[in-house]
Amino acid sequence: MRRVTYSRNYTISLSRTCQCYCKYCAFATHKAHLYSPDEVDGLLGEAVKRRAKELLVLTGEKPEVNAEVRERLRAHGHDDFVSYVVWTCERALERGLLPHTNLGALSKEDLGRLREVTASQGLMLESINPDLIVHQGSPTKHPAKRLETIRAAGELRIPFTSGILVGIGETPEERVQALAALAEVHAEHGHLQEVILQNFVPHPRYYGAEPAEIADAAQLAGESGAAAAMPAWGSEITLDDMRALVRASQELMPDVGVQIPPNLSDWWLPLIEEGATDLGGLSANGDHISPEHPFPSPQRMRKELEPRGNALAERLCVYPQYMDAEWMEQGVLDTIKTAYWSFIPRRGSGRREERVIRRDLVPGAIERARDGTALGEEELTALFAETRPEAIEEIREAADELRAELAGETVTFVVNRNINVSNVCTVGCAFCGFGQGRRSPDAYEHDRDEFVRRVEEAVEFGATEICMQSGIHPDWALEDYEGWLRLAKEVAPDIHLHAYSAMEVDAMCATSGLPPRAVFERLRAAGLDSTPGTAAEVLHDGVRERISPNKLPVARWVEIIEASHATGLRSTVTVMFGHIEEPWELAEHMRVVRELQERTGGFTEFVPLSFIPHHTLLGRTHGIEELSREENLKHTAVFRLALGRTIPSLQASWVKMGLDAATESLRWGVNDLGGTLMEESISRLAGSQHGVMLTPEQLIGAAHAAGRPAAERTTLYGIRERHELPLAA
Ligand code: SF4
Repeated sequence: MRRVTYSRNYTISLSRTCQCYCKYCAFATHKAHLYSPDEVDGLLGEAVKRRAKELLVLTGEKPEVNAEVRERLRAHGHDDFVSYVVWTCERALERGLLPHTNLGALSKEDLGRLREVTASQGLMLESINPDLIVHQGSPTKHPAKRLETIRAAGELRIPFTSGILVGIGETPEERVQALAALAEVHAEHGHLQEVILQNFVPHPRYYGAEPAEIADAAQLAGESGAAAAMPAWGSEITLDDMRALVRASQELMPDVGVQIPPNLSDWWLPLIEEGATDLGGLSANGDHISPEHPFPSPQRMRKELEPRGNALAERLCVYPQYMDAEWMEQGVLDTIKTAYWSFIPRRGSGRREERVIRRDLVPGAIERARDGTALGEEELTALFAETRPEAIEEIREAADELRAELAGETVTFVVNRNINVSNVCTVGCAFCGFGQGRRSPDAYEHDRDEFVRRVEEAVEFGATEICMQSGIHPDWALEDYEGWLRLAKEVAPDIHLHAYSAMEVDAMCATSGLPPRAVFERLRAAGLDSTPGTAAEVLHDGVRERISPNKLPVARWVEIIEASHATGLRSTVTVMFGHIEEPWELAEHMRVVRELQERTGGFTEFVPLSFIPHHTLLGRTHGIEELSREENLKHTAVFRLALGRTIPSLQASWVKMGLDAATESLRWGVNDLGGTLMEESISRLAGSQHGVMLTPEQLIGAAHAAGRPAAERTTLYGIRERHELPLAA
């Protein structure tokens, strides 16, 4: 799944008065135009109301060339226009909006003044041709002048957006030369976060009208105005022209995003497929530069992108790689840390909270863990946060040794089938792409016949286990859950039923009024054989409140799992990691798991589940990206060390990480590859693309590829059939 981004912004055209006379422009005026502080305040309130994260400040160039604007600025207490923009940005930051400014060509000093209060800035290079007819009367549109500003921004370490206009009279060669010029500046300073490829569309001039109002009305109506005629100096652009530019941009600047405005043509989708990465700022109040062209809604774009393997996700105006003190003023960074901390990339340590990571504890912690000793919070935090390759290799080796000691060389797997009877769910976890409201068109509920068919199919396939979990269905009572178990056992009396998360059991307790132990007794009598240790997510109430506030708290999860073990029903235990959790919160999860296992000994295996963000609320609106393979493997090894000798089996989830990474994880402390699954909905609906089933042969092949013998096991780790390594040819 490929991530395509956009920024949820609100545009404020602070002043449209401009010193330039570009022929394509419907935005600029040469009369006095300036929003008053009260108007700015009202617009900022509107931006917050519309849930924008970015404030896009657009202006004409040097509006104070107009005497009346100068006069008004003075009356508001500002010596120049930049001072007023700074004031506006400060007010925006106070309201949690991140300013991105585009004021035209600026001096280095003015860029520096804006840097104090912006998250990013921008300036279109437009073209490399200095003699375009459209730019006559606009001296600051000279490419040398524009590049001077863009270079100065690089020297000041300002995350920057630039781009080109396509179809304003330049030749195809000049377009690529313009991109090459941007690439040269970027090679010097590394500050270009994205390049906009903006096709020119002719539009009427709006004499006497207010583009902001036209844009807002068009955005609300969702309809484009009539197309205007192409002027003599303009040129028609084809999709192939744009495709060539996407490719050129990527070749010249592989680490820079490629942005396509989705409101200026119907070809944004093919250009995304060509490799463009971003759909720009989808302004809640429309496009002030091309006001008659409303932005398509994120929902519409998401629906068009998804079937083509793309996931639409929000970003901030500043790209993640620049979210640190080198690239941003502390005050701006503080706003991100307070309001948008989940967008800050993981760099091995906390995002919301600064904590000292005791790297000095790592060598001793590895040694103690290798001996099976329980590690303290600071030690585990340091291991989860570790970034030094040599220390990570030591973690891997220790985890691998512990695996060999506790589980031997054999890689196990179970032939099983998942059945998710219904995805109807009332809980609404932000990390979930599976649960649906009852009236959602994507909601489903298997009937008895369908359920029986799936059980029969599992038996035919040779499955020894059925793993059954569903959403929290508002109409189901304990009897319904018992009914599914009985029905499964009627069809397949010998099959092992591994069913119902602690959350489902909690729901059964609520509807029946029975305590967990009594519920488990009933379920056991109906055919339940063991319990999945899901719904654990991260066993830290602070994390749970942020990602699934309606889910059962840690103490209740522990109580239910203890009741399961006390009833003689063993369980697995999971962790869902790689989203918003901090390393010390994972340390707490491991403490809870380890202590519970020391009390009951009921866990059969530990299953790390890395978070799949693509079709979840956390992924769409909170900037969470999929964990890298390297981080995934490191965490896997640390989980093994954290468990010590308490839980002998560590499972890799091929659904989450892919079979390739799961095979590699066999060197990182893993001894089990889980199940064949046959159908997998929970990760698939969150955007995982690692398939929904594997055959036993594929799992055996993975073990053999890692140089290890394989064995099919039962749910409770009885060996059914061994598959030794083939003899070398
Ligand atoms: S994770 Fe489970 S409880 Fe939460 S919304 Fe999804 S299906 Fe419902």
